[in-house]
Amino acid sequence: MKLSPMMQQAQAFKEAHPDCIIMFRLGDFYEMFNDDAVKASAILGLTLTGRDCGLEKRAPMCGVPYHAVDNYISKLIAAGEKVAICEQMNTPETAGKNKMLERDIVRIITPGTVIENDILEDNKSNFIASILFDGTNTGLSWIDVSTGEYNVVQFDGNGSLDRAIGFLSYVDPSEVKTSTATKQEIAFNKLEKQFTACTIDELSDSYFTFNAASKLLRAHFAVASLDIFDCGGKNAAIRAAGGLLQYLFDTQKNSLKHLQTLKYCHLSGYMVLDSNTKRNLELTESARDGKKKGSLFAVLNKCRTAMGARMLRNWIERPLRDPAKINLRLSAVERLVDDAPFSDEIAGLLAPIVDVERLLSKIAYKKIMPRDCLAISAFLGQIPKFKKLISGCKSKLLTTLASELDELKPLHTLLISAIESEECPATTKDGGYIRRGYSKELDEYRDAKKSATQWLARLETSEREKTGIRTLKTGYNRVFGYYIEVSNSFIDQVPETYIRKQTLTTGERYITPELKELEEKIVNAEAFALKIETEIYNEIVSVLTNCLLSLQENARRIAGIDALYSLSKVARDNRYVKPRIDEKVKSIKITAGRHPVVETLLKSNEYVTNDTNLGDDSCRTMVITGPNMAGKSTYMRQVALITLMAHMGSFVPANSAEISLTDRIFTRIGASDDLSLGQSTFMVEMIETATILKNATEKSLIVLDEIGRGTSTFDGLSIAWSVMEYVSNVLKSKTLFATHYHELTELEGLLESVHNYRVLVHERDDDIVFLYKIARGGANKSFGIEVSRLAGVPKEVTARAKDILRKLESSNLSQDTNSIMLDVIGGGKHEQMSLFESDETEKAKRILNAVRDIDVNAYSPMQALILLQDLVESAKK
Ligand code: ADP
Ligand code: MG
Repeated sequence: MKLSPMMQQAQAFKEAHPDCIIMFRLGDFYEMFNDDAVKASAILGLTLTGRDCGLEKRAPMCGVPYHAVDNYISKLIAAGEKVAICEQMNTPETAGKNKMLERDIVRIITPGTVIENDILEDNKSNFIASILFDGTNTGLSWIDVSTGEYNVVQFDGNGSLDRAIGFLSYVDPSEVKTSTATKQEIAFNKLEKQFTACTIDELSDSYFTFNAASKLLRAHFAVASLDIFDCGGKNAAIRAAGGLLQYLFDTQKNSLKHLQTLKYCHLSGYMVLDSNTKRNLELTESARDGKKKGSLFAVLNKCRTAMGARMLRNWIERPLRDPAKINLRLSAVERLVDDAPFSDEIAGLLAPIVDVERLLSKIAYKKIMPRDCLAISAFLGQIPKFKKLISGCKSKLLTTLASELDELKPLHTLLISAIESEECPATTKDGGYIRRGYSKELDEYRDAKKSATQWLARLETSEREKTGIRTLKTGYNRVFGYYIEVSNSFIDQVPETYIRKQTLTTGERYITPELKELEEKIVNAEAFALKIETEIYNEIVSVLTNCLLSLQENARRIAGIDALYSLSKVARDNRYVKPRIDEKVKSIKITAGRHPVVETLLKSNEYVTNDTNLGDDSCRTMVITGPNMAGKSTYMRQVALITLMAHMGSFVPANSAEISLTDRIFTRIGASDDLSLGQSTFMVEMIETATILKNATEKSLIVLDEIGRGTSTFDGLSIAWSVMEYVSNVLKSKTLFATHYHELTELEGLLESVHNYRVLVHERDDDIVFLYKIARGGANKSFGIEVSRLAGVPKEVTARAKDILRKLESSNLSQDTNSIMLDVIGGGKHEQMSLFESDETEKAKRILNAVRDIDVNAYSPMQALILLQDLVESAKK
């Protein structure tokens, strides 16, 4: 037995694309076969049927109707699958009877190449990236196919691959391609562990040869040299960008016209934030559950458009370093803050604007629908209003953005006059989307019945004039169709081109080629109308294609205006102030600063404000001690976030702020505080610490939260101590250092510009109340026992813990633990506690042994509580 021809066809596509689910067009359905069908039916909840395939056993099959396919594709992509769309390339009519239809893969949809709105997240770019190591340098390129954003960068020299992969985590793509050679290099250096967002897929090296890549890029952008994209001499960058483009051509199978320009990312222009810092500072998602809620982005995003929100997110992820640019944004925000009516008017203009950026990508994919054209038209309609509103405004950035907006009048006029705006159909399938009055010809076909009479009358008149036969007339009958009738008396004047069809007693009936044509027109009027509509639409689409770059730039400028508006709105709503940031400011000085996210979670005025003065010579390092839950982490993040916000051009939550220019923000959150990631190993902590020590400069801000926790007390303390020394003496970075090692407070006075701070708590009997206020001086104890009381640990236990603690503290640390333990238990019988009454000696020993094995520092507060509970329980037994 042999596979049926159609199944052979399907099989061949599957073999060519083994990693994809093949959606095979069969009439009004897309069918999936065999393993694909089994997999898809499970994901999509479809019934699995079977199809005769020529073999004994029927092939498993499932299908989805073609008009609803997007929805199903979304689900498959969301489940991590790749989908290849296999279309019918001809129709049964053109193929001939009983012939197999030609089919071809028209597009491969992967997580990184989605343009469908219902799969994409509105406020987030969706990148596909490529990485190429050339033996020395590493090129990195990333494209958002849904908006046409195309970026490239090169990391040079030693460790370039390492750094590029770090940056890749930060870009956070949903798909990554690389060459075979690079993949081997990554594996050799065990670098894949540093990038866990998705797999790094391998493409053959031929995608990434310099010649092919460079040629492809030059051809695509129609430029003679790539120097205009600042890529001259950056061969690794060019290879990465070209290879990625080739891959997109292979899979998307269209012109990718919406990739209008290649942007070289000059990293020196931006503050560097690694993916750790992005996560630790909860810039775009909360560390707890990965949701947007609870992130800085969620607080700052009051954008009216999805494009604006994406822009704002980009500003958060890539704060600026150039004080001039920062201050341009700040003044724009200030202008909007100061003039509420002005800012409200801008919001009003932004409100109706849809996600034009993502609409535009549909042009290249030939998926742009008439309603999309209307949306673009409405967008263009807003442009003059923006120009008018903003033109006189005092902010240079706003006026520049507005003046650079291109009204694209001819396009706008075309769209208004050509596209039906009332009840415009959703698809082009049945026509009816070109506005009446735009094309006379089209309208005539649409009104075929009415027009037929006119056309015939016209023909009649012209034939009468041509022939001089006054009585000539046109008519219609069922048998012969349309005819020209001439009465007997004029027969001799009939031209030769007339073909006789019927003889009457009174005269003759003729047809002419012209009349035949007219007849066809009338009979096929509907089909003709559709054809003309399609032609007109194609022309409109080609005009749109020519305007793509201007439209994209318009969209980006509007996004910029929206992002500025959003910053001003938050600034006003949340009472932020304009920070001072320029070359002259050398330290971070904040009065009454607040954590922008935490303050929104509390009732108004519940947040306790704190000052900061970091970086002038007297204090460059703050060592912060205080009990758990006192607010140490919150305070340090508050300083980092305010610094970051100032660099992105945002107002900040404080009464006043001066922020020195900062090249990087580093954060390291100690192992035991980092449980959410499930990688609380000491190794990870030390790798990150190493990165900080290697890269931080005098202009960096370092946040170290409880480092050295993942190892034994003395180890941890020693490491923390020497790190502090290095940062203070060698790097001279501004540093916030929260620690539970009170010993570190000894460093004040020993090390240059290290100052001790503590978070104040109020002790009331045995309880403590958190004040969240930062003050000079070190905390002299950690209040662990008080905190455990707050958490509800029974009084007997906390009282006993206090007692143990007192003894531990008074014992000599140079003694070995056993003798300390003896001290604690007490030498004389009269000092023994009830726990060790003689009849319970056995039990006491057991518990004592357990206690002896405890390394207090290796436990998080929660784990400590559980441990304590276990101990209590075994004591009660
Ligand atoms: P620590 O790092 O000292 O253990 P956190 O910084 O995690 O403490 O703070 C614990 C909680 O205290 C926070 O989740 C927040 O609810 C509250 N908190 C922190 N700082 C403040 C503040 N300045 N004002 C009000 N509440 C605060
Ligand atoms: Mg903390």
